[in-house]
Amino acid sequence: MPDINAASELDAIVIGAGFAGMYQLICLRDRLGLNVKVLEAGAGVGGTWYWNRYPGARCDSESHAYWYTFSPELMKDWEWSERYPEQPEIMRYLNFVADRFDLKKDISFNTRVASAHYDQAANRWRVRTENGQSHTAKYLITAVGCLSTANVPKIPGLENFAGDWYHTGEWPHEGVDFTGKRVGLIGTGSTGIQATPVIAAQAKHLTVFQRTANYSVPARNVPLTGEFKNYIKTHTAEIRQATHETPNGHTFKIENRLAFDVTPEERDSIYEAAWAKGGLQFRAVFQDMMVNKAANDTAADFIKRKIRQIVKDPATAALLSDIDHPYAAKRPPIDTGYFEAFNRPNVSLVDVKTNPIQEILPGGLRTAAASYDLDIIVFATGFDAMTGPMLRMDIQGRDGQTLKDAWEAGPRNYLGLQVAGFPNLFTITGPGSPSVLCNMPVAIEQHADWISDCIAHMRAKGLEKIEATTAAMDEWVAHVNDAANATLLPQATHSWYLGANVPGKPRVFMPYAGGMARYRDICTNVASQGYKGFALSP
Ligand code: NAP
Repeated sequence: MPDINAASELDAIVIGAGFAGMYQLICLRDRLGLNVKVLEAGAGVGGTWYWNRYPGARCDSESHAYWYTFSPELMKDWEWSERYPEQPEIMRYLNFVADRFDLKKDISFNTRVASAHYDQAANRWRVRTENGQSHTAKYLITAVGCLSTANVPKIPGLENFAGDWYHTGEWPHEGVDFTGKRVGLIGTGSTGIQATPVIAAQAKHLTVFQRTANYSVPARNVPLTGEFKNYIKTHTAEIRQATHETPNGHTFKIENRLAFDVTPEERDSIYEAAWAKGGLQFRAVFQDMMVNKAANDTAADFIKRKIRQIVKDPATAALLSDIDHPYAAKRPPIDTGYFEAFNRPNVSLVDVKTNPIQEILPGGLRTAAASYDLDIIVFATGFDAMTGPMLRMDIQGRDGQTLKDAWEAGPRNYLGLQVAGFPNLFTITGPGSPSVLCNMPVAIEQHADWISDCIAHMRAKGLEKIEATTAAMDEWVAHVNDAANATLLPQATHSWYLGANVPGKPRVFMPYAGGMARYRDICTNVASQGYKGFALSP
């Protein structure tokens, strides 16, 4: 049996074995016949789902849209059990896919990439790993995920904490027992909102430390009926088609009507129906919700009203509904009993906007106003998103230029796929692509297909090198900014979309907000015009 860890000369190296890396391996190895190795830091496949095992971890996309759609047979042979898949079920699915396509034999697990340097003379990428492997390949493809570098805030005293602390994105595989414990949870993004009710049900006491209040809409998770499971199996092509046609890669469509096309009473009943249905499509009920602040206010006011109705303690309700940004300008969470959890006698909310956390103490933490005794601290404090996973590797392109220098003022690339000065390096769901504004598997399949078509084109034409031109990159960066500014998204000035959650990170709106369907067309046109904006050479 060949040694997977031996130094090797390959056609392509893929970094990461989540949804993206696994599918890229299928494309390059099985369709193009390339010699490919995937390098993966975790001990198994799964990427974000391998690491994010926190209580309540569940996908916010509906299961019938959150999977690979490249193979109708695969879609027929897998059966989801619930409207939204839970983390363990997604892991089962990804392992099912990995086994079915025999992927694991080409994945080197427990292998974190330390550096990737482009050797100009040889036109090869030389990749070194933290466990001492070295590999060389013509093509390097990062499939490192957008939310895979945990952001643990630097709060003084953490090293002295006598209890246990965890970041949700690096959750222990054996789980955490909260029974009888006083737990502090910091962060009220999608993760904190999912984890709160589950931890509350087990802990002696849960204190949620909220800096920025957040909207959330009920998920309304349910087991899938036999009828719906059958619908999925008999409509695989329609499901795939639908995810290709919507701006965000989900199957639901954004309504054509505008918020002020209807009377206030009609608007309210539309929101009531969307609230009762649950899920991310709440933001799809009016076409102008993400572009017209007044339209957005109607949704925001509705949700704030709901929070005040659900939460019985008026002071807690006021804090939870004191939200300072437009609805869905930050990634909108959906929940199962989040606001209801604050009606439990063992859950309390602490405002750390007015009184920021100042210090972690051996027995808890303190703000300027009070101290809190804690046995466990859970950091649901998010990620150094999009650029973090790329920049923690030492990537050097032509003339020894580092990616860190190239992106000093924020990420710059062409189509979110390539950076000028870094030939033959492709970045799946990189900044500048729809990525996190899209249902991820849809964005991933489009990128992996495009990259694989591009490499097939190069091989057919005897081309060895592809590199984005600086002019195309500059134009794309301007377009990405224009697309964001046409929406309300940049108005959430503290969002991770802007890098604002990581102190010192440049504030640049990172994902492409022009919509997945439009982006797909742009990429297809670029390819059909002989890879316009890229320099290709023999
Ligand atoms: P997040 O959205 O970045 O939220 C982090 C939270 O921690 C925010 O409330 C933030 O407050 C708070 N925080 C950070 N540093 C803090 C500090 N020093 N003191 C107090 N509070 C602090 O992270 P996330 O919830 O992990 O979600 C990240 C993304 O992952 C989501 O937006 C989503 O795309 C994805 N996700 C998806 C799912 C799913 O599909 N099921 C589930 C979870 C996450 P501020 O807002 O004030 O910065």
